[in-house]
Amino acid sequence: MLKAPLKKTIRDFDIRGKRVLVRVDFNVPLDKDRNVTDDSRIKAAIPTIKYLLEQGAQPILMSHLGRPKGKAVESLRMMPVAKRLKELLKVRVVYLKESVGPRVKAAIEKNRDAVVLLENLRFHPGERENLPDFAKQLAELGDLFVNDAFATAHRAHASTVGVTSYLPSCMGFLMEKELEVLGALLEEPEKPFIVVLGGNKVSDKLGVIDSFIDIADTIITGGGMCFTIIKSMGLEVGQSVIEEDQIPQVASALKKAKRKGVRILVPNDFVVADRFDKSANKKIVPCESIPQDWMGLDIGPMTVEKYCTIIKSAKTIFWNGPMGVFEWSAFGKGTKAIAECISSANATKVVGGGDSDAALRQYKLENKMTFVSTGGGAAMRFLEGKKLPAVEALDEK
Ligand code: ADP
Ligand code: MG
Repeated sequence: MLKAPLKKTIRDFDIRGKRVLVRVDFNVPLDKDRNVTDDSRIKAAIPTIKYLLEQGAQPILMSHLGRPKGKAVESLRMMPVAKRLKELLKVRVVYLKESVGPRVKAAIEKNRDAVVLLENLRFHPGERENLPDFAKQLAELGDLFVNDAFATAHRAHASTVGVTSYLPSCMGFLMEKELEVLGALLEEPEKPFIVVLGGNKVSDKLGVIDSFIDIADTIITGGGMCFTIIKSMGLEVGQSVIEEDQIPQVASALKKAKRKGVRILVPNDFVVADRFDKSANKKIVPCESIPQDWMGLDIGPMTVEKYCTIIKSAKTIFWNGPMGVFEWSAFGKGTKAIAECISSANATKVVGGGDSDAALRQYKLENKMTFVSTGGGAAMRFLEGKKLPAVEALDEK
């Protein structure tokens, strides 16, 4: 089975007195007054930053924020992040309005006793294009490169891959934890291992379905993605979202699951709506009787009961993707019930995916999980068994 890559960590280096360039993911949501509305990504990087400070190193932090498309955008400056970081760390944080160049170098020298936060990396086109010149300019700011931005690990950018050509490079604590927890799901999950998949598109999930067919005992499905599965079983789904072009791939995944003795379950009943609207008319119908003009927007109560019984028997659970349109309370019951059920299971409980994370926070259940991944796309890519370029680029142990 696929092993988590053996990459160097910060503990493998003597960092006293060193300038440590750290790629973090501070791509946080801001409100219209540019206040950070969710600081969980900042908090997730704190253990690495604190360790560097304790060891007498100077953390030089860099991140992207939003999509400035290669030029400076006032509303996407890192200032609000610096403010929040200062409150959380309770040490001096120096925010620089540039990310490379002589003025940045001088400011780092002048503030050797402070944490430095560079300007939004994506103000430079060289970041996303992974241009060697930009990577080299970043590398000149530090003696060691630490990557703690798991959420961008599936992207080969100057600050994640390019920079590793010029500096000794290792994982931060968050990166290490993510790879360890997600890697354990692929390697030696305690059985029964139940995978709960929902969300919008089956095409986003087929890779992990394929990967988990080899490992899991049962794959439970819901959300929009289950309708393509139901359709490929030969049933009608009314106006529910489906991806017609994915039916052959889904059918072959179902065949493979059958061959391997893995159950892929679809809901028995749905909350259907007469239009895609938060105040649409709704009713509960069995899976095989979705009216032609209606669409499934949540799993029904029978399904919740059946799924919860299975979830409770698990020793390992991985959940990605809401069970319905949870953003609308009329169609959020299924997601909430499943989230509660997973929370109370006596198992290792791992959650991945931006919307699943948002749902958990909405129900205040995020602390009930063993681990909530900070990387939606990166986590899914990793669980598909694919290599993450930013991890591959780090120094081997
Ligand atoms: P995650 O971000 O956790 O990986 P996805 O992005 O795959 O999850 O899916 C989340 C989205 O799926 C949500 O915006 C939700 O409204 C939508 N969704 C869930 N169920 C349905 C459904 N039955 N019909 C349409 N959209 C759905
Ligand atoms: Mg999403």
